[in-house]
Amino acid sequence: MNQRRPDSGSPGDSSAPGSRRARGSHPAREQQRDSQRTRVYEAEHAVMRIFDRSDNYPLLQIAGSTITIPVERKFASVDNVQIYCDAFLALRWVRETWPRAQVPVVVRRRSGQQAAHYERAAATIAVPGHVNASAWAMRELVVLHELAHHLAPAGEQTHGPEFVGRLVHIVGEIIGPEAQLMLRVTMSDMGARVG
Ligand SMILES: [Zn+2]
Repeated sequence: MNQRRPDSGSPGDSSAPGSRRARGSHPAREQQRDSQRTRVYEAEHAVMRIFDRSDNYPLLQIAGSTITIPVERKFASVDNVQIYCDAFLALRWVRETWPRAQVPVVVRRRSGQQAAHYERAAATIAVPGHVNASAWAMRELVVLHELAHHLAPAGEQTHGPEFVGRLVHIVGEIIGPEAQLMLRVTMSDMGARVG
């Protein structure tokens, strides 16, 4: 009868915290799992455009210094990507830094023209087939991105700060410190956190 009792509240008020928590927990965590994905892709694409223009514009002003844009490799066959990945995973510093490097990676062609991707359960990098009539080429930045996925410890956030930190580290060692600076600065500009 006494509806003004302080502990009665309104149905909305009393149920709000509990229901909000119950409703939000799973989807929110799922979103968090790959919350940086778009920013990471945008940053990589921006860096790729700089590499693509480097024949005509070999110098770049970045973070207050002028750098010479290094060479990014291109691969003409799936076999070449496989050889590159095998050699990368055999590098001593890679093995000493990431235990997952002991797991061999398989490179296979995926049907159609979809982007490259990594399948963790099969430790496989799938790369797209021929693109129109032009010569097939897989670029080094894409392969290193997929290798950075391969080296992730179990349970790590996909494209999270740790992933980006590992990718930036790898790019610095493999392509060079200029490429590392380009990628790190561009990631920050795009709002992707680097762990
Ligand atoms: Zn990825």
